[in-house]
Amino acid sequence: MNAEIIAVGSELLLGQIANTNAQFISKQLAEQGINVYYHTVVGDNPERLKNAIQVAKSRAQIIIFTGGLGPTKDDLTKETIANILNCPLKLDEEAMKQIEQFFARIKRNMSENNRKQALVLSGSTVLKNDNGMAPGMATTIDDIIYILLPGPPKEMQPMFTNYAIPYLRKELKLSEKIISRVLRFFGIGESQLETDIQDIIDKQTNPTIAPLAKEGEVTLRITAKHEDEDFALRAIQTVEEDILNRVGEFFYGYDDTSISQELMNRLKENDMTISSAESLTGGGFLQELTSISGASQVVKGGVVCYSNELKELFVNVSKETLETFGAVSEKCAKEMAENIRNQTNSDIGISFTGVAGPNSLEGQPVGKVFVGIATASSTNVHLLHLAGSRKGVRDRAIRYGMYYLLKMLES
Ligand code: ATP
Ligand code: MG
Repeated sequence: MNAEIIAVGSELLLGQIANTNAQFISKQLAEQGINVYYHTVVGDNPERLKNAIQVAKSRAQIIIFTGGLGPTKDDLTKETIANILNCPLKLDEEAMKQIEQFFARIKRNMSENNRKQALVLSGSTVLKNDNGMAPGMATTIDDIIYILLPGPPKEMQPMFTNYAIPYLRKELKLSEKIISRVLRFFGIGESQLETDIQDIIDKQTNPTIAPLAKEGEVTLRITAKHEDEDFALRAIQTVEEDILNRVGEFFYGYDDTSISQELMNRLKENDMTISSAESLTGGGFLQELTSISGASQVVKGGVVCYSNELKELFVNVSKETLETFGAVSEKCAKEMAENIRNQTNSDIGISFTGVAGPNSLEGQPVGKVFVGIATASSTNVHLLHLAGSRKGVRDRAIRYGMYYLLKMLES
């Protein structure tokens, strides 16, 4: 079984938008074990679209279209396919009703061209659009499966996942369940992680293990296929245990979570409050933590003490520390963390001080960062040597701070 994705839209050819629809669909098809052999992009032009369909018909068993299902004149995907497959369009009452209701809700008159959106290929399965007006379609003609999807990703993605995939699975009689779990790691590089578990990756065929590195994190996706869901889950569990035996110290969460989300969960579970004193990160730590819902339960607040003057004024860093050791020092980080904790009556105080670059500071190299974490029982100061741009150093310092907190709360 192989598939071809035809993205329709002149915007794509002009470089105004990237073909993320093809990327999304390809990923989902791969998870179903369906091979994608070709991505085609064609403009809003019926002749060239016809040609693209002819070519695809000669080499794919599944052809998936995105874009051009809307109400305007340049939206011609449906009409062109109807024409080439000799399959008339008919009005779908359900879709028509949804479109009328949409206009009634926003209290606007519906222009006549909107009716066009309710036309579907006769004999096709209508794929509901839960986030817009134009419905999608799926139909099988002469052993080729055609799926038509709208262009906007927020309409296309849920439609594809919720309606097109089940159609494909039924049509292709895919009875195997595909289950995957993502393990998320921090503080270990992609190549190190891969090296540490290479033999586990190599010997696995079901489940498979796929590493992916992104923004300072590494993830492993474990995917198992089996008729029996419990069997697949157990197989994933076994591989997961093998992996965590090796690199468990860097593991922080499953699936779509993030370090800040996990940190928030742990703080809530432990019923602990936190405040920060931030120099290097300029409030970025609090910015990120407060973007998670429920922050008010655990976050007290903090200060941005960028200059030495404000380090003294806001968090009582001693003049002696600043003069003897400087702002980028273990001692300064320690005082910042302890004092913000005391002043705010929080369970945890965290501090960030360091050199973001591009210029060195106080004779200290770019990327040298101290993260202080103070609790009632002890204070730990972590020293980091981070590489990268100013933004990279600051972002990573925040993430490391969160990671250290997480590990502390777990232990
Ligand atoms: P509409 O009803 O909004 O007109 P449509 O189904 O007719 O939807 P298009 O007109 O082709 O789709 O595209 C609408 C928008 O969807 C584009 O402006 C673009 O933002 C997005 N889009 C279209 N195709 C793609 C693609 N292949 N990848 C990512 N985004 C896309
Ligand atoms: Mg359109």
